[in-house]
Amino acid sequence: MIELKNVTKIYKSKSNHSCLALDNVSISLPNKGMVFICGKSGSGKSTMINLLAGLDEITSGDIIIDGNKISEFSNHDYNAYRSNHIGFIFQDFCLIDSFNVKENIMLSLNLRGETDESIVLDMLNKVGLEGYGTRYPKELSGGQKQRVAIARALVKKPKYVLADEPTGNLDSETSIQILELLKELSKEQLVLIISHSSDNALEYG
Ligand code: ADP
Ligand code: MG
Repeated sequence: MIELKNVTKIYKSKSNHSCLALDNVSISLPNKGMVFICGKSGSGKSTMINLLAGLDEITSGDIIIDGNKISEFSNHDYNAYRSNHIGFIFQDFCLIDSFNVKENIMLSLNLRGETDESIVLDMLNKVGLEGYGTRYPKELSGGQKQRVAIARALVKKPKYVLADEPTGNLDSETSIQILELLKELSKEQLVLIISHSSDNALEYG
């Protein structure tokens, strides 16, 4: 289980401006299911998911992962948490253009010293991209790119899938396909989705 306890995040700029992005937020997230966090632009959604993913530092408060406080993690714990527990899906996919689909997904495994290609091929089937392994990102539609990004997030079997506006750059029909895929995954694990619109949350959350 993931818990945020009184989490505050203040961004400080070099010119001494500060921005209170999260103000004393407490929330508990379950181990399974599809959870949406909605709010208007600038309300701190990305800040929150980045903190959850271990991508940025909290100003005060704590995040507790399965009973362990993030603030007490060593560097090694932090890296292990990011690499083993979290699968992150970005709005703009963040694929490497010079790598083909298989290589993009494989990278996620290679970083952990794994090289079993059959896992990648299984994952491609799971996200509906069988036979697309040797294509390059520029040869794919937006929805297909997001499927690759989802496969890359899932291939390391993360406990938690975090997605920051995963359908923000997709048309409505493609968005539905991606949300259906994430919904299916959420039967087995937590899928946390950040969204600026509550429509999808009401339908899928
Ligand atoms: P959302 O994802 O809900 O649109 P963000 O979490 O990106 O909101 O931003 C929340 C607030 O924090 C905004 O006011 C934004 O300008 C500010 N902010 C976000 N990132 C930074 C940063 N790196 N430095 C300074 N301010 C930031
Ligand atoms: Mg955002």
